[in-house]
Amino acid sequence: MKKYDDIIVGSGVSGLTLALLLGMNGHKVLLVEKNAHIGGSLRRFYSQGIPFDTGFHFTGGFYKNGILQDMLMVLGIKDHIQPIYLSEEKNNQFILGPEQTTYNLPTGYQRTIEKIKEYFPCEEHAVDKYFAMAKNVCTQTASMDLRKISMSVSALDEDFLTLDDVLNQLTDNSKLKTLLARYSMCYGVKPREVSFANHSRICYSLYESVARVKDGGDAFIRAFQKHFKEFDIEIMCNRHITECVDIQNNYVGRFVLNTGEEISCDQCIFTIHPGEILRTLPHNHLSKAFVDRVSAFEPSSGFFSVYGVVESPNSADDFTPTITSLFPTADINRLLDPGNSGMPALVIMQNAEEVNGKFYHVLSALEVSFPEHVEAWKFSKPGSRPSDYRKYKQQHVSSIKERIIEKFPEYKDSFKVIDSASILTFRDYLNSPDGSAYGVKQKIGQFNLFGKLPLRNIYAAGQSSMLPGVVGAMMSSFIVGRTIVGKEKYNHFIEQRLCN
Ligand SMILES: Cc1cc2nc3c(=O)[nH]c(=O)nc-3n(C[C@H](O)[C@H](O)[C@H](O)COP(=O)(O)OP(=O)(O)OC[C@H]3O[C@@H](n4cnc5c(N)ncnc54)[C@H](O)[C@@H]3O)c2cc1C
Repeated sequence: MKKYDDIIVGSGVSGLTLALLLGMNGHKVLLVEKNAHIGGSLRRFYSQGIPFDTGFHFTGGFYKNGILQDMLMVLGIKDHIQPIYLSEEKNNQFILGPEQTTYNLPTGYQRTIEKIKEYFPCEEHAVDKYFAMAKNVCTQTASMDLRKISMSVSALDEDFLTLDDVLNQLTDNSKLKTLLARYSMCYGVKPREVSFANHSRICYSLYESVARVKDGGDAFIRAFQKHFKEFDIEIMCNRHITECVDIQNNYVGRFVLNTGEEISCDQCIFTIHPGEILRTLPHNHLSKAFVDRVSAFEPSSGFFSVYGVVESPNSADDFTPTITSLFPTADINRLLDPGNSGMPALVIMQNAEEVNGKFYHVLSALEVSFPEHVEAWKFSKPGSRPSDYRKYKQQHVSSIKERIIEKFPEYKDSFKVIDSASILTFRDYLNSPDGSAYGVKQKIGQFNLFGKLPLRNIYAAGQSSMLPGVVGAMMSSFIVGRTIVGKEKYNHFIEQRLCN
């Protein structure tokens, strides 16, 4: 039986981050992945030879002292990741309500404030107050700074106020409220269910900068893989834990894999969906309260996605990536409700890809969707889905294509759909229980599954732990990494890496 210091379950960005962090700190690490490949949502897929992003289209945090940049620097992979900034107004368009009012927003904290005030000249006070409150939350949150990151996250007053509470106190202007709450689509929780503090923690880095990455999530995976070799990090794909055995004093002695192999470790860290963690842990060693708590978590929103190309005479050099968000109503609570009977929100992202010297104008359109929408086919598997499911997919592809052409009539003859994915596709491709985009809904007052679990050598990290998205998932791994490595060693490691 092989023995490791740490076994990490799941190789999405959180598992990759934790594996490298622990490996760099001298630990003998094993990464266990259920899929045939590592990378989880980061991994791109290829259709007709063209690369499309699965679960990583753009991110915040890419700026001097920004949290993402710092994390990549500490991990030694910053130079392998090439950001493509979407900084100008023309890159980021928000179209709100049935009257389709258009707002073009630049990035940069101060530039964003000025532009929103330009659009809402009578609301200067509300805009200033909102951004001051958001900034205040972030400066007071230890986890937003790698040097101060700590497991004992102390709650702020804003952790007990919903985003809606704050917006409703600031203004009656529904369009302004929608614009300020627009990034709810990047974490999939309604403004009346999310705390103002968490909303601010997620949005702040997006206000500062929005960037795509050259080669998308594959650039991250390649960079991690290269460094894994240096630190002897072992990877086992097509594996998952089927049983935790030899449990004494709440310490798991051995883990049995689906292949029958047995492994042991000082720490096992799950970076997978909490529902999947619960399925793996031995219930006779868990309290009913714990099982009930985790079982009660709800899924965040997900997407029905259409992927295609626009035949274009351009070249990659003169192409500007864009994000266009269509919110058919100003009511984001409604847009993030599975029961919304109106038109769903749609985010259209356009970027350039070069494959073997050939330029592709790639377009991905993500329509908000929920596990409830595919409930009828939840027991079906890829390759054997029933015909009514295929019809559901075709209808959605057609309606999304119509919306794309309505917004960009110039693509009428040049846009070609190449692939599509429903919530079920994401569920099965990413081995998640429900196919939601951001793991569990992180609702106000919720006690997430994070850090040490009731079994002494078992921990949880990942997008459902602390904050969703690639940045949130990585941050959770730094926090758990600090606990495992030890505060002093971690602090020294971070200081050294950030100084270099
Ligand atoms: C359509 C879509 C678009 C998105 N767009 C963005 C975006 O633009 N920007 C952004 O920041 N975030 C985006 N996200 C969210 C982002 O992808 C996630 O927050 C983040 O990548 C999650 O990382 P993770 O490591 O926690 O989990 P995952 O990436 O889900 O990785 C989990 C891994 O664990 C594996 N696994 C599952 N169960 C087991 C098991 N029992 N044993 C072993 N392995 C297991 C899975 O196969 C997977 O590889 C998007 C998500 C989706 C679905």
